[in-house]
Amino acid sequence: MVIADSTTVNLYKLAAAALDARRDRRVIVTDVDNFPSDRYVMEGLAAARDLELRWLHPHPVRGPQTEEVVEAVRAGDVALVSLSHVGFKSGAIADMAAITAAAHDQGALVLWDLSHSAGSLPVELDAVGADLAVGCTYKYLNGGPGAPAFLYVRREHQDHMRQPIWGWFGQREQFGMGSTYDPAPGIERFLVGTPPILSLAAVGAGLDVTIEAGMDRLRAKSAVATALMTALFDEWLHPLGLELGTPRDPEQRGSHVSLVHPEAWQLTQALQAAGVIPDFREPDAVRLGFAPVYTRFTDAWDAMDRIRDIVASGAHRSFPSHRARVT
Ligand SMILES: *Cc1c(COP(=O)(O)O)cnc(C)c1O
Repeated sequence: MVIADSTTVNLYKLAAAALDARRDRRVIVTDVDNFPSDRYVMEGLAAARDLELRWLHPHPVRGPQTEEVVEAVRAGDVALVSLSHVGFKSGAIADMAAITAAAHDQGALVLWDLSHSAGSLPVELDAVGADLAVGCTYKYLNGGPGAPAFLYVRREHQDHMRQPIWGWFGQREQFGMGSTYDPAPGIERFLVGTPPILSLAAVGAGLDVTIEAGMDRLRAKSAVATALMTALFDEWLHPLGLELGTPRDPEQRGSHVSLVHPEAWQLTQALQAAGVIPDFREPDAVRLGFAPVYTRFTDAWDAMDRIRDIVASGAHRSFPSHRARVT
């Protein structure tokens, strides 16, 4: 694992490396509810290399299931399966071990996006045999906006895979500054250039508190918090016409809860004005992320209470219904 570049750039680097390692195959599999960059990067690679993009259409709340991946790779023509471990909208957890095994059975590689997993639940990349993974450090790892991302390449792939951006940080003798590119052995060949040093320092601080708190304890706290939120949803919000856009079983979800409402954008603005900072996710979801390092149960309670007040009084209707660019 190394910290480098943005999640999007790392998706491109690792997907290209995987496609180069499976040159005899012509298909990339991803799902229609994946995060935009994850879809667009695969679209771009498919267009540039004249490959087929095979879309999964998972249930919007349950997310991609193993059977759907089994079906998609069945023909033995898939080079790469690219999925998010925790869905950015639904928060659903994909079965990383079973999906990876299903892809491997048919000779495909798997690239996991861990942006919503890292810092919110334990992830066992080595144990499940994952090939490749990327993720950001500015959600549950608290590196701050724009902090550099991470990437993982399974040990046995590191020396034979190559990423397409041949920069001096990936060179065997970086300060030898040789006339041609000679990739470093191991994970260092997946580096490109100089990282943003100030943000990198913030990632270090975010990781320190995460490690100090302990991933198992953070996961336990997060599961209780999202269970509290779904219980309050049932009690207070369902009667007001909201729907739950997140799996009910805590084992099946990460650290956020999505609430579905036709006026979700106005509700998001009203919540921000009331001191609760959610995300609006197209077309109709208010996403409440619970960062377990610093968010308290009382914050989760207050957020749900304020949503109840706003929806019950209709106060959100005084906010504009047209979207802002950043939501
Ligand atoms: C947040 C997020 C990203 C962010 O990509 P950047 O290149 O760092 O902006 C990518 N993928 C997923 C699934 C995310 O949730």
